[in-house]
Amino acid sequence: MNPSANSPTAARAFAAAESEPVRQKVEAELTRLLYRSANFGLCSNLALSLVLVVGLWSYFPARTHLIWLAAVIAVSSVRLAVNFRFEQRARLDAELPSWRRAFVVGVALSAALWGIAALLYLDTPDVLPRCLVMFILAGLNAGAARSLAPVKACYHLYVALTLVPVFGVLLFMPEAGMWTLAFCTVTYALFLLNTTHLQHSELLQLHRVAYEKEALLETLSIAKARAEEASVAKSDFLATMSHEIRTPMNGLIGMLQLVRDSDLNPEQREQVNIAAGSAHALLRLINDILDLSRIESGRLEFESIPFSVRETVEETISFMDGRAEEKRLLLRLTASPDLPAYVIGDPGRLKQILVNLIGNALKFTSAGSVDVHVESIPAAAGQAGLRIRVSDTGVGMNAEATAKLFNKFTQVDSSTTRRYGGSGLGLAIAQELVRRMGGSIQVQSTPGRGSEFSFEISLPLASEAPPAPVGGSNATSAGPLLAGRVLVVDDDAVNRRVIEMMLRRFGVETTLVASGYDAIDRAVDEPWNVVFMDLRMPGIDGLETTRRIRQRLAGRPLRIVALTANAMDEDRADCTAAGMDDFITKPVKQSELRRLLEMWLKPPPKS
Ligand code: ADP
Repeated sequence: MNPSANSPTAARAFAAAESEPVRQKVEAELTRLLYRSANFGLCSNLALSLVLVVGLWSYFPARTHLIWLAAVIAVSSVRLAVNFRFEQRARLDAELPSWRRAFVVGVALSAALWGIAALLYLDTPDVLPRCLVMFILAGLNAGAARSLAPVKACYHLYVALTLVPVFGVLLFMPEAGMWTLAFCTVTYALFLLNTTHLQHSELLQLHRVAYEKEALLETLSIAKARAEEASVAKSDFLATMSHEIRTPMNGLIGMLQLVRDSDLNPEQREQVNIAAGSAHALLRLINDILDLSRIESGRLEFESIPFSVRETVEETISFMDGRAEEKRLLLRLTASPDLPAYVIGDPGRLKQILVNLIGNALKFTSAGSVDVHVESIPAAAGQAGLRIRVSDTGVGMNAEATAKLFNKFTQVDSSTTRRYGGSGLGLAIAQELVRRMGGSIQVQSTPGRGSEFSFEISLPLASEAPPAPVGGSNATSAGPLLAGRVLVVDDDAVNRRVIEMMLRRFGVETTLVASGYDAIDRAVDEPWNVVFMDLRMPGIDGLETTRRIRQRLAGRPLRIVALTANAMDEDRADCTAAGMDDFITKPVKQSELRRLLEMWLKPPPKS
């Protein structure tokens, strides 16, 4: 960090540089205010000069009156014309200093004429003219104190030019008590100057706050726009990276699945299993980072569908059973019998939370058990309250560790990474998912004894059961052979090969094409049960290819399934809009592919 940036001098210089434009804007606005409030003052000025002349007509020579009145009318008319000119259009801040000077000159001339009136009309032994002059001058000064407050110098000039002659005349009058009157005039002037000073400060403060707020809002909106741009850039980058990483991962995981299903000796099988485990771990990490970016950009989407909490938890547990068995741990579920049949929410996200909590419990426990408890808790009408707890008999954590548990990329200590692996993202994501469901994960842990992670959520009760999964939910790659013709469109040779090998293994007749252009004619001219379409391809992409196929088919049915490494939620909507029927993300799982094909293809006729 630059040390000088923090010094008081630097801070003052910064503040000065910051406030300069605000100061100029405030001055400009006060000048506008001066002009806005000037017309009334000018009209009263004219009216009072007429009153004065009429009132004193018989006391002084007509010539004196007429010359003075003519001068007042001339000055006031010019000032009114200047005001009119000023108000004709909105004035830029840069123009205002010269308009301010013009105004001050006008005020000085008017004030000088009233000063002359004092010299002319106070010089009489008659009481009435003196009183009239004094009253009018006092009134004019009181009025000007408000209307000239925006520019203090202007009012100072006004007071000096009108009241100093009064003071002088009174001082030199021979009658007794005139000195007292003269000093009353000074007190009156000081009082008015103080009032103007206060009003000026308030105006200054008011406008300064308004402009500072405006400047702050401008800075904030620029910063917001920049942050939004950065967030879009980050999401684009993540989408691209996700695609670029998933494409080779598809080749890797796909090939490993195929190798695993072939004849291997035990040593080779172990090696392949380790390689597949690493590939899946890498994929999990990519998915975590993607989820985190969705959370940060507020684009994490949640489904709202009816599902059974009990079944979702059971499925998660049976999915994790293998890992528990490997470590010889007991993985048990206790579900209270009063659980609601169906609720509305996102079962996939609930599974994601459970996979993280149970996965951690299994990871950090070397002997004993991991228990999952699901129970009902009271909730508002129409809602189902749920408390889910995952407890283990593992290594546990101290209070310091539990305090920073939900921070991103945080692990209890660096040796954890070495011993157990992991990115430190899982709990941060799980916490955010639980928050989106209206709850918060709580932890209780004792070092050496174990930990318990729990959360309470409330989900709307569902009145109907979810539709049964089409084609069966048993995601397995094994099964009877299938019969059908499938067209695969993918520009990546490895991906084409992976999916071809998987499809051939299912018994499906597979044709491969490498570009959207080649795909259109073949898709339209030949009979296909399914077309698998990559999205990102050079030339025309999968979306455009699908649109053109749909156009050429003119309503004839054909199943087109997006096969893509793009895993962002927006992609799904784009696929549907382009006319695709379904969407599989790469790396393609054999089991998922089979599940989809089983919906559409028949087993071959028995020969
Ligand atoms: P990771 O992918 O590293 O497991 P998590 O965010 O899921 O990331 O967990 C962060 C850290 O919290 C872990 O590295 C571990 O130190 C600690 N932790 C999480 N769950 C448990 C548990 N059940 N028992 C002990 N420590 C745990």
